[in-house]
Amino acid sequence: MYGYAGRILHVDLTTGKTRVEPLNEEYAKKYIGGIGLGMRLWLDYSKAGVDPFSPENPLVLTTGPTSGTVWPTGGNGHAFVAKSPQSYGIAEAKSHGSFGTELKRAGYDGVIFHGRAEKPVYVWIDDDSVQILDASHLWGRSPAETEDMIKEELGDYYIRVAAIGPAGEKLVRIACIINEKSRAAGRCGLGAVMGSKNLKAIAVRGTKDVMVAKPDEFLEFVKEFHERMKGPATKKYRTLGTPENVLVHNALHCMPTRNYNNAHFEAAEKVSGEYLNERYVAKIIGCSSCAMRCEHICIVNEGPYKGAMARVEYEPLWAMGPYCGVDRLDAIIKGCELCNYYGIDSISAGVIVGFAMDCFENGILTVKDTDGIEARFGNHEAMVKLIEKIGKREGIGDILAEGVKIAAEKIGKGAEKLAQHIKGVEVTGYDLRCLKTAALGFAVSFRGADHNRHGAYAFDVKGKFNRLKYEKGRAKYVKDLEDVYTVIDSLIICKFSRGTYYKEFEDLAKLYTLVTGWETTPEEMRLKGERINNLARVINVREGLSRKDDTLPWKVMNVPIPDEGPSKGAYVSKEELDLMLDDYYEVRGWTRDGVPTPEKLRQLGIDDLIPIVEAKIRKA
Ligand code: SF4
Repeated sequence: MYGYAGRILHVDLTTGKTRVEPLNEEYAKKYIGGIGLGMRLWLDYSKAGVDPFSPENPLVLTTGPTSGTVWPTGGNGHAFVAKSPQSYGIAEAKSHGSFGTELKRAGYDGVIFHGRAEKPVYVWIDDDSVQILDASHLWGRSPAETEDMIKEELGDYYIRVAAIGPAGEKLVRIACIINEKSRAAGRCGLGAVMGSKNLKAIAVRGTKDVMVAKPDEFLEFVKEFHERMKGPATKKYRTLGTPENVLVHNALHCMPTRNYNNAHFEAAEKVSGEYLNERYVAKIIGCSSCAMRCEHICIVNEGPYKGAMARVEYEPLWAMGPYCGVDRLDAIIKGCELCNYYGIDSISAGVIVGFAMDCFENGILTVKDTDGIEARFGNHEAMVKLIEKIGKREGIGDILAEGVKIAAEKIGKGAEKLAQHIKGVEVTGYDLRCLKTAALGFAVSFRGADHNRHGAYAFDVKGKFNRLKYEKGRAKYVKDLEDVYTVIDSLIICKFSRGTYYKEFEDLAKLYTLVTGWETTPEEMRLKGERINNLARVINVREGLSRKDDTLPWKVMNVPIPDEGPSKGAYVSKEELDLMLDDYYEVRGWTRDGVPTPEKLRQLGIDDLIPIVEAKIRKA
């Protein structure tokens, strides 16, 4: 098989046994790899209603057909899939770096971790040799420390490591899995699932070749994409980086500020991408086989956070900055560093702190509850301390570590209205009250609040649609983007390069054909994307999610934007949300409750999933 290693590794952490089985070629063709293949394998090896922290919740790690090749931004990715301890639906998170390259070269399209080890372990995959080793001495260490210690004890600098930090060990629900010290499979709490298995780290060394079907044409295509990636479509990532969004969003009044109390931050200049690059960016680096290099490494050289160092993107900057009313980049860099240290999703961490500050400002939390911390908006020291407490599950951090949804339920006193999440996953840096196409994308996203499942905000921000009013017919655009995005995440190529695929499915189909040798048309590629989105939905349906979960945070639907300016008064009414959902389900060919119909699944060639939806349709 070209483009695939042809093997899936099973690691049973309960029994300590491992086995390898051939990759199902039909699955490769239908679900590509990455998140598509990962979700299908998760479905096959899990039971309906499984608890996310049960040993019966398999953690699936996959590579894609481009992983291990020199495809720019695509040779280096991997994905994790499991049931989320936040949404209780399907979770997927990808990361780049070079871990995925190494795993593919070790000869695996996927690894499925079953069961739970009795005590902390790490799995050492050295080509065909797989060992489960004691990790007691690594427990309590950060992902970066863990990586260094594993390389040291195995005596090979080129080993690649994906690890959880102390937060994953303590089942912090926003814990992530970090590779190469700062690259995170960040969202949905998969680090906590890994922690629930007592699995501290996965170390990989691979020395095999990854073969592509048409090497000469493939290399020509690689060269073409190298040029495209040096062009205007990726300029933002290569220059200011994603923090460029700060001033753009602020000007449009679509940057959630102080836990959605505002949509505009008066001190945005002080946390802008421009200021960050001028004062703090020390170096720009990139993942292996990337022609773009987007990773802006920031260092604080003076003041109370002197010595802090982290890669900073728009989302964590926004979450720890404007969302908490904090206008200090040095504190934000420190916050990002702490998230890497404890192994927590830096977007969710900032949003949780913003939520806690809102509770404090409203008297729902007091200094007694916060262990003496004056958790007011704008207090950068409070922001940093609260992140630390979440990472340690210490004091108030023990409640906040549950994520805003569960934390609000525990706190009570109306805190639920301040918890800005969708399906239990914290919001990201787009004010959904005034970005109505994005609002639909966020509401129906199968992994909860997220901009990366659809990218529909672009239609609003770039002015393609009236962002303040939803109109029937727009769901088609959201669906089409979702289908592109699932293909991107299954091949695995980096989202930051998406703008270079000018011909969309034509480019993606050509890439897939050159790598695998399976002649694939653009329409067939599109169908793969649609199939994967339907697979994700069927899984969520099996796990009990439905239309009621395709909703928006309370403030988005009840608190109009108060700021004078272009978005003043905007919010999403219940009627508008219903219009969005009806429009979307219709275009997807789903029932009014958001369940894929048997006809739709038949059309997509996934008839074997029909019994799952039929059971739900009968009940309804
Ligand atoms: S664009 Fe950035 S994140 Fe994506 S592969 Fe390149 S360096 Fe890595």
